[in-house]
Amino acid sequence: MASSATTTPAAGPRTAPPASHAERLRALRESAYRIRTHALNMAEVQGQGYVGQALGVADVLAVVYKDVLNHRPEDPEWPGRDRLLLSIGHYAIALYAALAEAGVLDTAELETYGSDGSRLPMSGMATYTPGMEISGGSLGHGLGIAAGLGLGLRHQGSRAHVYNLLSDGELDEGSTWEAALACAHHGLDNVTAIVDVNALQADGPTNGVLRTEPVTDKWKAFGWHAVRVDGNDVDALVAAFDSLRTHRGSPSVLVCDTRVGRGVPMLETREKAHFLRVEEHEWQIARDQLTERCHAECADRHADRNAATADEEHTV
Ligand SMILES: [Mg+2]
Repeated sequence: MASSATTTPAAGPRTAPPASHAERLRALRESAYRIRTHALNMAEVQGQGYVGQALGVADVLAVVYKDVLNHRPEDPEWPGRDRLLLSIGHYAIALYAALAEAGVLDTAELETYGSDGSRLPMSGMATYTPGMEISGGSLGHGLGIAAGLGLGLRHQGSRAHVYNLLSDGELDEGSTWEAALACAHHGLDNVTAIVDVNALQADGPTNGVLRTEPVTDKWKAFGWHAVRVDGNDVDALVAAFDSLRTHRGSPSVLVCDTRVGRGVPMLETREKAHFLRVEEHEWQIARDQLTERCHAECADRHADRNAATADEEHTV
C-alpha cells in the first residue's frame, strides 16, 4: 500500500470536545481527508473498486462517526451504542475507512481489503467485521432492519439511535418505502435515514434509470421529518445533524447530495464511475490531487474566517 504524499494528523476516537465550532469543523474535515486517503489506498490494492462512492460519502461518514454516533470504538458490541446500518454493501470500502478513522479498526488492517481471509470483504458482512452491523448488498433491506431495531430498542427503553445509510439507488426498491411507512406508523423517532444522493447507480444516472425526485417531498409524504443538505459541506452536515438531534415524534431523514469522486478532480469527471478502474500510475496522482484540493479548500476557509473576523471587529 502506498503512503499519503503528506503527513496527516493522527486518527482515533473522539476523546475530548473541540475547543470551538471552527476547531470542530477543522477536525471533521481532517477526518474526511483521512477517510478519502484510506479509501484510495484500499482501492489501489485491488486496482479498482467503489472508490468513487467512498470519496463522495467521506464527509458524511466523518461527521457521523466523529460527531454524531454515541459508540465505544474499543467495544463495538456495546449494547447502548447507536447503530449505523450500511445497507449498500458495496460501500464497505467507505465504512472500513471510517471505522479505521473512528478507532474501531486498525489502519494497518485496511491493507487486507478484498483479499482472501481478510475481515474486510469487498461487500459488507456483519459476521466478518467489527462495527459492521448488517450484511448489505441485496439492496433495499437496511431500512426494514432499522425499523425492527428501532422498535426493539424502544421496547427495551434504550436511548440508542439507529441510522441507516442508503443510496439513491435504494429508493428504487419497494421494500425501502414499505419500511418508511412502518417507521412513520410507529413514530420511530429513534430512526434516521441518511440517503446518499449521488445521482448515479449501477445502470447509469439515477434520473435515467428511475426518477426519484423530488426525494425530500416523497419522504415528507410518507410522514418523515426530512432535511436536505449538501453532503460534501461539513459545516452544513454538522448543522443538519445538530437540528435532527432535537426532533421528536417521527422518524427523520437527511438527504445528502454528494459528488462521486469528490476531492479528486481526476475521478470526479470520470465516466462509468460506479465501479472505477484506475491505472497503476494514477493512484499517486489521485492522492496528490486529494491533498492539493484539501489544502486549497482549507486555505480558502481560513481566508473567509479571517475576513469574517475582520468584519466583526470593524462593526463593533
Ligand atoms: Mg447512487
